[in-house]
Amino acid sequence: MWKKHPLHRAHWGALRQYIGMIPILLAFIPRPAFAWGDEGHEIVAAIAMKFMEPEQRQRLIQLLSQDDDTLTAHDPVSVATWADRYRDSAQEGPHVHYHQTHAWHFVDLERDHPNLDRACADHPPLPQGTPASAGPARDCVVDKIEQFNAELQHYKTAGFPSKNRAEAILAVKYLIHFIGDLHQPMHAIDDHDRGGNELKVKWPPVHAGSLHHYWDTVFVERLGTDVTLVASTLAARITPENLQAWQQGSARDWARESFDTARSVAYDPLPTPNEAGHYLLSDTYVDQATEVVAVQLEEAGVRLAYCLDKDL
Ligand SMILES: [Zn+2]
Repeated sequence: MWKKHPLHRAHWGALRQYIGMIPILLAFIPRPAFAWGDEGHEIVAAIAMKFMEPEQRQRLIQLLSQDDDTLTAHDPVSVATWADRYRDSAQEGPHVHYHQTHAWHFVDLERDHPNLDRACADHPPLPQGTPASAGPARDCVVDKIEQFNAELQHYKTAGFPSKNRAEAILAVKYLIHFIGDLHQPMHAIDDHDRGGNELKVKWPPVHAGSLHHYWDTVFVERLGTDVTLVASTLAARITPENLQAWQQGSARDWARESFDTARSVAYDPLPTPNEAGHYLLSDTYVDQATEVVAVQLEEAGVRLAYCLDKDL
């Protein structure tokens, strides 16, 4: 679910009022969120690069180097944000990429009655001969991960024929992004609030925003804002036991885990809202959420490496 998060009018009012403090205040203005925010996606890709087998990593870099798309640079970390850029780029009419691909970024499992089949529009099959990148618009992130994995494995079995190269590049770029999205807990739950986008929260050191936005960006930025450094720090915590536990299961299992995390850590501990219907987050909530985000990013990175090692 892609949701734009316009900066608050009240916030801009404060900026004007404290114009001399702009450099300080700017540090607290999050960028518009692109699901996990760009930083979260880049951290996932950077962690994956550390855990991929050298041969597969080389093949990935080589494949991406043949991409002629101009929306992002072509290294594995930069392409992690490509699917969001593509979705928000208009071509051949207004918002055509948005309508074609925006539902692929999440799976709306209902908080009270989670049902994967329903959340995935009953898993529409790809019509014969249709590449996954041109599949039905009404589909979910779980199906898209399965489809792109299958497509790449087919490409590998065929010995990487050049006629399939363009689709293979797309499959890799979508996988790098979607495995990240699937591990953003708010991308696997819906409580009739557009995945937490309509639920206003505030933790006093940061300006108010939606619950979705806080999980996309605010908690990620608490880990640090240097992608390379955060990825190294997180990767260094990953134990052989973690690897063994995480490098298994399917996108369906991972969606269920994300959903359980969203329910137990994002929604259940929310305080009672104030009269305006806003939720004031405690330091305890924010600290727990930040640690959970760190683990989600680690898991996503490890699982991305696990998939790409099989696919390439
Ligand atoms: Zn996304």
